[in-house]
Amino acid sequence: MTDVTTTRTSYTSREVRLAARPEGEPTAQNFEWVTTDVPEPAEGQIVVRNTWMSVDPYMRGRMDDAPSYIPPFELGAALEGSAIGEVVASRAESVPVGATVSHFLGWREYAVLDAAAVTVVDTSLAPADAYLGALGTTGLTAYAALTRTAEVREGDVVFISAAAGAVGSVAGQLARKLGASKVIGSAGGPAKTKRLLDEFGFDAAIDYRQGDLAEQLAQAAPDGIDVYLDSVGGDHLQAAIGALRTGARIALVGAISGYNATAPLPGPDNLFRAAAKEATLRGMLVSSHFDLFPEWIGKAAGWLADGTLHTAQTVVDGIDQAPDAFLGVLRGANTGKMLVRLEA
Ligand code: NAP
Repeated sequence: MTDVTTTRTSYTSREVRLAARPEGEPTAQNFEWVTTDVPEPAEGQIVVRNTWMSVDPYMRGRMDDAPSYIPPFELGAALEGSAIGEVVASRAESVPVGATVSHFLGWREYAVLDAAAVTVVDTSLAPADAYLGALGTTGLTAYAALTRTAEVREGDVVFISAAAGAVGSVAGQLARKLGASKVIGSAGGPAKTKRLLDEFGFDAAIDYRQGDLAEQLAQAAPDGIDVYLDSVGGDHLQAAIGALRTGARIALVGAISGYNATAPLPGPDNLFRAAAKEATLRGMLVSSHFDLFPEWIGKAAGWLADGTLHTAQTVVDGIDQAPDAFLGVLRGANTGKMLVRLEA
């Protein structure tokens, strides 16, 4: 029997719940805030004071009552998602009070978890919030997509969509490290395309809101592309297929242009080009690549420390703002990783 070790004895926690399922684009009305009493941890459990939480595009799918690779959020229940926090009470010897942990009960100020459901993170390698960005599933998505799903080879021309976002901004720099000869990114608006060139090391930047995307891609890659990391679907996937070189690889990572769609979207009408170019289109879920975490964290922490991996964040403060942060990420309000800071 482990004694409760704690820095305080009782806590209340504000949490964000799903109030109603959205039709199309979610609004503030889809969320509600509730204050709860945090229970004492049972044997083997810990209480975590969340300091950072992640808002991610895939959460939009969980707001719908539709089968997917991850269950829907429950109506009237707290939302879930990646978070980082400090252990404030523990009845588990493996995770002491004071440890910084990552886990999956975000969208609340305090979380009670089995010790086995958290990972202690090493804040001597990087600040805690990095484990929700470059050192978390965000960075791992870029790494798995470009090393396993659509492997970048020496000399490749690589196209990255949502390139100023969390996954995209890491992916562009990683493509270069993996030997790409040219890295092209697309993003919405001139401020973001400037950051692609100035901060994230892209060779060419396309503002997809200005002019024809396929034409802009043809200009940036006159001889075509070898790898495409698709976060967007729709017009981006169509343009990328139109630019494929023989043997090209596409990693189907996301399709954010359709996440709020209320009717079926048209597919690309040029898929035969993928056949003619003997291309590979392959889907990926980051959760199938968690075995790569130690390898990725080792590399990425080194690159963060030596300054060769540049990351950006858009930070919103307080649990009250968490839904706005989430709505913002769907609309492109972020550059780099969108995070909610919960610590006072
Ligand atoms: P993010 O890129 O930081 O944020 C999403 C970005 O998408 C926005 O900033 C916005 O940037 C862009 N966007 C929104 N609507 C768009 C549209 N209609 N056309 C083009 N761009 C649009 O988000 P993230 O967390 O890094 O995720 C990026 C993608 O990867 C998402 O599709 C996500 O679902 C996917 N993902 C998949 C996995 C997996 O396991 N398969 C894991 C993580 C993420 P602009 O201002 O440039 O439009």
